[in-house]
Amino acid sequence: MKFAITSKGDSRSNTLMHKMRSYLLDFELVYDEEEPDIVISVGGDGTLLYAFHRYSSRLDKTAFVGVHTGHLGFYADWVPEEIEKLVIAIAKTPYQIIEYPLLEVIIRYQHGGKETRYLALNESTVKGAEQTLVMDVEIRGQHFERFRGDGLCISTPSGSTAYNKALGGAILHPSLPAIQVAEMASINNRVFRTIGSPLILPAHHTCMLKPVNEADFQITIDHLPLLHKDVKSIQFRVADEKIRFARFRPFPFWKRVRDSFVSDKD
Ligand code: NAP
Repeated sequence: MKFAITSKGDSRSNTLMHKMRSYLLDFELVYDEEEPDIVISVGGDGTLLYAFHRYSSRLDKTAFVGVHTGHLGFYADWVPEEIEKLVIAIAKTPYQIIEYPLLEVIIRYQHGGKETRYLALNESTVKGAEQTLVMDVEIRGQHFERFRGDGLCISTPSGSTAYNKALGGAILHPSLPAIQVAEMASINNRVFRTIGSPLILPAHHTCMLKPVNEADFQITIDHLPLLHKDVKSIQFRVADEKIRFARFRPFPFWKRVRDSFVSDKD
């Protein structure tokens, strides 16, 4: 089996990365940064986001596992004290694969029929480049509302515990093939009106945003921010691709939610 390890870059994560690499080589696994079967991310959830984007072109061939060197993570659920156990599990056990849905983002531009496609593991956010975001929101091809406000956040179920949660969005179990649209400070008064609640869309529904006047936007894909000019539309839906996690033991999602946000005590 071929493996790669990505590190957050701090000294603790780097030390663990080197240790795991040498243990796995002792088990005669092959280190291959280009075409790994398994990618071990050492750091936090942010580190796994980077690893996901590094290997997003081979999601059907690569599985991910996360070791956290900070607080408990949603994608990084092994602790540094367990790395020997994890190494043996990777080397010796046929692991179970758990798949989580991803968000597909297609940005179309006003000139030249050009479009770009992205995959997000957590979410994509759209904000005005310089002013209030004003966009028409279509759901499944039908006009839904004209949004005015700071921005919109479209998240995956596994990203629902990240930025989406800070915006008052619901936490979705990652087994659900869905996306969630959450508002960032919408303008609501007698003239302007938005739904005001987060929306959860099933896999067969798309959400399309269309500019009203301004066509330049700050669009993030997970941790990556980009300025897009002359945008015609931004389309969101559940992607056909999924991220695959290597599972060696049960780690229930709701326990992770409780341990992260409510209490880590029994
Ligand atoms: P960052 O500012 O360094 O990290 C943001 C925080 O989000 C970190 O504590 C990270 O955990 C945590 N996180 C990432 N994915 C998560 C998930 N699925 N569930 C729960 N927590 C999660 O930024 P970054 O490392 O480049 O990560 C980008 C992410 O930051 C974005 O995808 C967005 O979700 C999040 N973000 C959140 C807010 C907010 O909550 N107000 C605002 C902007 C962006 P680790 O410490 O384990 O890495």
